[in-house]
Amino acid sequence: MRAPIRFDNSFARLPSRFYARVPPTPVARPTLLRLNAALASTLDIEPDWLASAEGVSAIAGNELPPGAEPVAMAYSGHQFGNWAGQLGDGRAILLGETIGRDGNRYDIHLKGSGRTPFSRGGDGRAALGPVLRELVVSEAMFALGVPTTRVLSAVATGEQVARQEGPLPGAVLARVALGHLRVGTFEHFAARGDIDGLRLLADYAIARLYPEIAERSDRYVALLEVVLQRTAALVAKWQSVGFIHGVMNTDNMSISAETIDYGPCAFMDVYHPNTVFSSIDRAGRYAYANQPRIAQWNMARLAQSLLPIADTDEAVAIDRLQRAIDEFPGAFEARYDEAMRAKLGLAGSEDGDQDLVTDLLERMTAAKLDFTNTFRALAEGDVPEALGDWRDAWRARRARSGHDDASMRAVNPVYICRNHRVEAALAAALTGDLGTFDELLAVVRAPYERRPELATYAQPPTPDEVVRATFCGT
Ligand code: AMP
Ligand code: MG
Repeated sequence: MRAPIRFDNSFARLPSRFYARVPPTPVARPTLLRLNAALASTLDIEPDWLASAEGVSAIAGNELPPGAEPVAMAYSGHQFGNWAGQLGDGRAILLGETIGRDGNRYDIHLKGSGRTPFSRGGDGRAALGPVLRELVVSEAMFALGVPTTRVLSAVATGEQVARQEGPLPGAVLARVALGHLRVGTFEHFAARGDIDGLRLLADYAIARLYPEIAERSDRYVALLEVVLQRTAALVAKWQSVGFIHGVMNTDNMSISAETIDYGPCAFMDVYHPNTVFSSIDRAGRYAYANQPRIAQWNMARLAQSLLPIADTDEAVAIDRLQRAIDEFPGAFEARYDEAMRAKLGLAGSEDGDQDLVTDLLERMTAAKLDFTNTFRALAEGDVPEALGDWRDAWRARRARSGHDDASMRAVNPVYICRNHRVEAALAAALTGDLGTFDELLAVVRAPYERRPELATYAQPPTPDEVVRATFCGT
């Protein structure tokens, strides 16, 4: 009989200092909450098996599926700009890897699967709310074409977890990613002066994620360049949909340039560049407008980590890595400008385009306009009054170089995963009602086509509904 998940665990074949071998800790009464059947089929896993007693037992961490080799991955990192030292998978475990139907290698990772040698003071568990939040927000991101880790399944544990708010129902999610290597994984080996480890890690990342640079003699500089370009593209996507990550620590920045670690993240309602959601980000380090700069800062931490292996001549290494880092603003701007021109339906590129975007955003800030709805209104030919004579400039620009309204509707969503909707869905889920959650999930999975019966999902929160801070709640 064919194994239900065909594992091929390349990470677990690396030397033992890359991880701790540790099985997930069983939970009391695993019950399947939600299964991502589309993703299961990408992974060539039978959804019926996942939903079976044996499958649920596997994704709850109660029984290892054949071929799994569970490891908690080692990493370190900078949190809020400060060196935090060793972190690692304190409540997550890489079950193994499998090759998808699309030919990609994917990690299958459990989160909330119990304590590991990296748990420090934590309980190794996750609460139901944040697990469901990660499912719905990551599916929204996927539907919007933003590179992201995804949730294969969410299982209730039948156990409670102790959190600041009191005891909460526990859950385990299975997260799927092109990889779980982080900037912090590189920092981990660099901080230990483990040059062999650093080289092994870099070669592993290249072979797995960027084989096109494997033969280059300067491949470690090339690794920085390619991760930096992908990260710039990722953050440009975030900006273009008003997504605020909330915890862009180096341990949450992926080498595969996927959005990872859905903690206190949110889509912005009213546009303001300084918007912050995270309750722990008092200084606004990870505010919307800061995200590109922070991504560059994180890339500089990657560069610093690669320094010992980038070139035999240190001065050459510094020079090449620095030059790569200096490319970030240009790389980001090119992707961002491209995204914003698409959002405004501007064909080609003209000198005044950046000013047109800046002017629009300033007027949106002053008038407190909703980010998503303003762009969608433009796509539907309905220019908000508050934009004043910006409208004439925009129209003149479109008249000069052509425009395409249908393509605007294909990049400006009607439905995003609004935070007040998420909060309402999670509140209902805590009472045992997943209906609201399922409806929201279905809405955000089809963001571009307006459906009259879903009008309320396109509405920004009323003043009472505004969620001012998203607690990590982890
Ligand atoms: P995060 O803020 O989720 O990126 O996590 C930062 C670090 O804290 C990582 O090393 C996590 O594994 C660890 N961590 C977060 N929550 C827990 C928990 N409940 N138990 C153990 N470790 C945790
Ligand atoms: Mg993290």
